[in-house]
Amino acid sequence: MIRNYDKLIFELSKEGRVGYSLPKKQVEGYCMCCGLPENLKRESKPELPEVTEFDVVRHYTNLSNKNFGVDTGFYPLGSCTMKYNPRINEEIAAHHAFTGLHPETPVEYAQGALEVYYNLAASLSEISGLSAFTLNPYAGAHGELTGLMIMRQYHIQRGDLKRTKVIVPDSAHGTNPASAAVCGLQIVEVKSTAKGTVDVEDLKPLLDDTVAGIMMTNPNTLGIFETEIPEISRLVHECGGLLYYDGANLNAVLGKCRPGDMGFDIMHINLHKTFSTPHGGGGPGDGPVGVREGLEHLLPNPQVKKSDDGKFYIATDEKSSGYVSNFLGNFGVIMRAYTYILTLGRENVKMVGPLAVLNANYVKESLKNEYYLPIEGVCKHEFVFDGLADKSTGVTTLDIAKRLLDYGYHAPTIYFPLLFHQSIMIEPTETESKETLDEFIAVMKKVAKEAIENPDVVKSAPHTTPVRRLDETTAARFPKTTYKQMKG
Ligand SMILES: *Cc1c(COP(=O)(O)O)cnc(C)c1O
Repeated sequence: MIRNYDKLIFELSKEGRVGYSLPKKQVEGYCMCCGLPENLKRESKPELPEVTEFDVVRHYTNLSNKNFGVDTGFYPLGSCTMKYNPRINEEIAAHHAFTGLHPETPVEYAQGALEVYYNLAASLSEISGLSAFTLNPYAGAHGELTGLMIMRQYHIQRGDLKRTKVIVPDSAHGTNPASAAVCGLQIVEVKSTAKGTVDVEDLKPLLDDTVAGIMMTNPNTLGIFETEIPEISRLVHECGGLLYYDGANLNAVLGKCRPGDMGFDIMHINLHKTFSTPHGGGGPGDGPVGVREGLEHLLPNPQVKKSDDGKFYIATDEKSSGYVSNFLGNFGVIMRAYTYILTLGRENVKMVGPLAVLNANYVKESLKNEYYLPIEGVCKHEFVFDGLADKSTGVTTLDIAKRLLDYGYHAPTIYFPLLFHQSIMIEPTETESKETLDEFIAVMKKVAKEAIENPDVVKSAPHTTPVRRLDETTAARFPKTTYKQMKG
């Protein structure tokens, strides 16, 4: 299937055309404009497009048709868990009883919302094996920062002020070292073995009394389960550090094993990945943070608690690691995640992991002759190819990603993780059918064949999108974000 895009037309303005009509002056002798001080009055007409309401509706509807989302087609973006977002989540999150609730509503009138918050935190505790959760952070990276603030506060409150280093594996998501830096911690990198897991021998000499803790992602960004966790947990705890679990992608282990049981002290979860909320393009998200028993008081303020008579209230703890957000997190996302967990139910939550793993392994095994698989064996929810198997074609990962757009697919994650030069990271998720996976596999094989037989068509892709290959550096450094810039 080749997707056919119309040309993008932005210039719709016709002088004098309007999309509004204002009532005649109703208060005699008063004019908004005349009431303004001279120095605030504009000297020239604003440069706005002059269009009718219908023009505007068509313009934005056509733009939205050019957008690609998980509701349009397969979206195998590794590390992002682009699964189906059930519509019932939207219906319940959009209920006026929740959307109409003002954040400053007194707690006695917000008991239902507080109950949702409390129950979701309790569900996450059960799912992860940790003692208590805050839902306040707005995203995964924000959760990491919150978790590291807790880690720091733990050492500070014990008077252990030397612990300023945090160990981060070389396979980690970029947000891990970034969050550590924002938290004022020094980053020490630990290497991965050829199997893609944290190298325990490389870790050992890094452990001393200046280490605040280690951040681990499991399954890691290569989609590999970290098998040495018991040993790493023992070593890091023995040296006085804490273990942080980046649980942004919990899909593979959901209902199978729990970070709390593995010895982790702190973790974050991305509700907008594993627990099904439409995400991408900068939001919305929610990044709950959980802690093991004994660290609950360090969770950020405000905290939602339940009293003995069953009423919910908002508490603040002097020893907490502070405030990380206004109010109580991204409530719309919290509602969606809570709905998702309740509609799946205990039994079906346990099916998410195995099905996500099955889908990922099916795609990986089907494509490993055409694409180079640097780490063999069973993967978890995602896996990484290092470009094409045939290295003689000159076709790069970027070319492959662009060519997939011509066939109507969102590109996988590319050039991440940084461990390989031509990373293509694919995460199909559990909600795709075998037919969808088979079609994707066929297209990936076709692109690999084109790379050999007609490399130029791949190198010059995309051919069917509204704009062709962009200058990515300029696009990132000098993005044109307004209509006026587009004109210029
Ligand atoms: C997505 C992701 C994050 C960051 O989450 P955001 O909500 O985008 O801030 C952190 N770690 C891993 C492993 C991720 O996949």
